[in-house]
Amino acid sequence: MKITSVKAIGLRWECPVMSDAMSVCKARQALWVKVETDSGVYGIGEAFCYGSPLIIARHIVEDQLASAIIGENPENIQWLWQKMYWKNVPNGRTGLVMGCISGIDIALWDILGKTAGLSISKLLGRHSDRIPAYASGGFYAPGKSIDGLKQETEKYLEKGYKDIKIKIGRNPKLERNAVNYTGNTDFSVAYEEDIRRIEAVRRLMGNKGRLAADINAAWPANAVLFAARDFKEAGLNWLEEPILFEDEEGLKQIREKLSPILLMGYETVQGCQNFTRLMKANVMDIVQPDIGWSGGISELKKIGLAAEGFSKLVSLHSFGSCVHFAASLQLSACLPNVEAMESEENENFLKTGVLKTPFEYDKDMNFYVPDLPGLGIEIDWDKAEPLRVF
Ligand SMILES: [Mg+2]
Repeated sequence: MKITSVKAIGLRWECPVMSDAMSVCKARQALWVKVETDSGVYGIGEAFCYGSPLIIARHIVEDQLASAIIGENPENIQWLWQKMYWKNVPNGRTGLVMGCISGIDIALWDILGKTAGLSISKLLGRHSDRIPAYASGGFYAPGKSIDGLKQETEKYLEKGYKDIKIKIGRNPKLERNAVNYTGNTDFSVAYEEDIRRIEAVRRLMGNKGRLAADINAAWPANAVLFAARDFKEAGLNWLEEPILFEDEEGLKQIREKLSPILLMGYETVQGCQNFTRLMKANVMDIVQPDIGWSGGISELKKIGLAAEGFSKLVSLHSFGSCVHFAASLQLSACLPNVEAMESEENENFLKTGVLKTPFEYDKDMNFYVPDLPGLGIEIDWDKAEPLRVF
């Protein structure tokens, strides 16, 4: 079997406006990668682009990476990963190029699974057939008050979620908050209101479940140290990416001061060696790689094993389309050290509207790992086509 083409598919869906600590989102985008073979089997992957123009990722996939693997046997995934990596190492071992390598890697695993007649998690040696998930939401939005956040929380609890994550940190008046560099501070709140938002969600959850808050690295370290006591009193259990992962000294101090709140991170880190360095520095409790950004299934397999070696838990970051979520479920299913995975609850048609069979879950919001060969999903191309921008 030989790879005959590697193509990028760009998708865009206008969504209700929402924001986290740093950015405002008006449309959801996805960059799928389609790898075709001479046997007729094709694979789909997703490169996570963190808001980059999709057209740039398209050029990276089709003009920079494709030539490294066209004509090769798609079953030799680790060989192909190393080829893409080393041919582009000066400009590509991190950033968008690594995101695109991740997307191609996922598509290659999809091909391998389809050819073998097994889901990717079975190919890798499955540990679980269900993955616990937390509700990821609690964004800021135009006109959304604490009451709006409470209604949203009630919806998640009724659905069966035990654990919930909300966004905090969009406080331009807080000194050195990086949101001030973004040029858009719409729907921001005062620091005190963020603490009340955490308290309100915790009150609805009662004594049960884990409550997480995500700052998206907007704050300086001293602000997080200052807030540690408020976070503890408000009933927070997990804090995600409070500052940039590059500030290891800041993170060490934060982790110490935050205990028993667990530190989660860092979705923007790429590659097993970079994750391993951070695990060795002991600057997180829960390791949070992104399958479409940090190196694909091949690299996340290694990051998961490294995490086990450092006695860390793994919770995959997932904020993409159905392809991203399926790949994350497949990989999580073969790790023995997974914590609840991110299940985004914002309206996202790219995740919920373009599959023939939607993702299934039990009454406690554990997601069943899809069992069809490869990623385990069937894309409804009639629904996906109208969303294509290329
Ligand atoms: Mg995050």
